[in-house]
Amino acid sequence: MKEINESDFEKEVLNGGNVLVDFYSTECAPCEAVAPKLEGLEKLFGKEIKFVKIFRQGNRELSDKLIVKSSPTLLFYQDGEEVCGRLAGGVKRSEIVRELKHILGKEKVTNIMATQQPFVTDVDVAILGAGPGGLTAGLYLCQAKINTVLIDIALPGGYVSTTHMVSNYPGFIDPQPGYLLGHNMSEQTKQCGTTYKVAVDVTKVDLLKKEITIDNQETIRAKRIIVATGTSPNKMGIPGEVEYRGKGISYCATCDAKYFGDKEVIVVGGGNSAIEEADFISKFASKITIIHQFDQLQANKTAQEKAFANPKISFLLSHEPRAIKKDGEKMVVEVEDLKTKEMKTITADGIFVFIGLKPNLEIFNNQFELDEWGYIKTDEDKRTNIDGVFAVGDVTSKKYRQITTAIADGTIAAISITREIG
Ligand SMILES: Cc1cc2nc3c(=O)[nH]c(=O)nc-3n(C[C@H](O)[C@H](O)[C@H](O)COP(=O)(O)OP(=O)(O)OC[C@H]3O[C@@H](n4cnc5c(N)ncnc54)[C@H](O)[C@@H]3O)c2cc1C
Repeated sequence: MKEINESDFEKEVLNGGNVLVDFYSTECAPCEAVAPKLEGLEKLFGKEIKFVKIFRQGNRELSDKLIVKSSPTLLFYQDGEEVCGRLAGGVKRSEIVRELKHILGKEKVTNIMATQQPFVTDVDVAILGAGPGGLTAGLYLCQAKINTVLIDIALPGGYVSTTHMVSNYPGFIDPQPGYLLGHNMSEQTKQCGTTYKVAVDVTKVDLLKKEITIDNQETIRAKRIIVATGTSPNKMGIPGEVEYRGKGISYCATCDAKYFGDKEVIVVGGGNSAIEEADFISKFASKITIIHQFDQLQANKTAQEKAFANPKISFLLSHEPRAIKKDGEKMVVEVEDLKTKEMKTITADGIFVFIGLKPNLEIFNNQFELDEWGYIKTDEDKRTNIDGVFAVGDVTSKKYRQITTAIADGTIAAISITREIG
């Protein structure tokens, strides 16, 4: 991709035609993830749209003028005007193609995409999911000189990267910011030499053939597969939840609490995640109401004591949300008193939902033997019921789901595989 500076911007970008501009930085994991996708797309679409990249830190004046605040940020220009939405962070190939359709037309893009040649890559081990479990397995396999590829639909790090502070990960005296712990785990595995395919679309998984197709183009054929896809937050399943997701309803305090400075917030849930995250949200919000279905919290004693002592937090126990509406900027929540069956409404500026997690298994089409809660059953070496397929971390059947238990699983699976094929 052609590299330009701010002095070339007028000539190369504003002077007409279709242009895609990638503002990138060095030592930037999402920039490294998007670079090969852009190179591949330039080969396909280079005649229709010019691809250029600009080093953000070296071109600060231009970045500030264009209000480019993170790397990578992709901007699209048509005849000197910025068009389409901007793409930033863990950008997927399919998202870039979607924007190209706006500029070049759906038919043209579809026809050009049809000319791309699918290809197969052979590896020893493919790991699906780059959270603590997958990253640890990747590290051990890499150090055992086993050719391993780590695949994730998002950026590496998993849940840890969205956790505000982690205080129970051994080896650190002080609590560690979750994003830093996730970043360090990822860098350690990457620097060993594990291949990363992140922010990709996992199009198809054939566990029997041990083939994983990503971005509808590359099929990764492996001798062994490790599934480390973790969990996703449970949804309340009530009217208004889908509609207002990201528009007042959030499932991630680390991501969104900062937007609720001096505002009133509802937290739904009473387990450790809900109570600990409520405490974190209270650094920003002026008032927090915790709504919980039982008449006691399920969180551990330390978390409960902290929450009870927090003057910003109040509790609505034995209540459950039944519907969410919006009145102007305010969220209006209808709640049912589970003891009296009475309904009432509460208003707030935002709602955070922490009501448990469900395993990420949709892509596997019911091929696994599961426990009664829907998690993958494994033996003590982390083998599943499918020959050559292992599973680790939160997606597996177990009593305790923590970073330490996920990394222990990753270690065990990697050593088991090393014994088999190393
Ligand atoms: C709010 C919250 C706070 C927490 N705080 C702590 C704490 O303080 N201490 C602690 O020890 N634990 C904590 N935990 C638990 C801990 O984060 C998890 O146990 C741990 O991250 C599990 O690691 P994992 O690798 O199994 O899964 P995850 O971390 O969930 O990673 C799974 C990865 O798989 C990817 N993925 C999903 N689907 C696919 C797919 N189809 N294909 C490819 N990739 C896919 C995801 O993008 C993700 O990167 C917390 C959890 C939550 C929700």
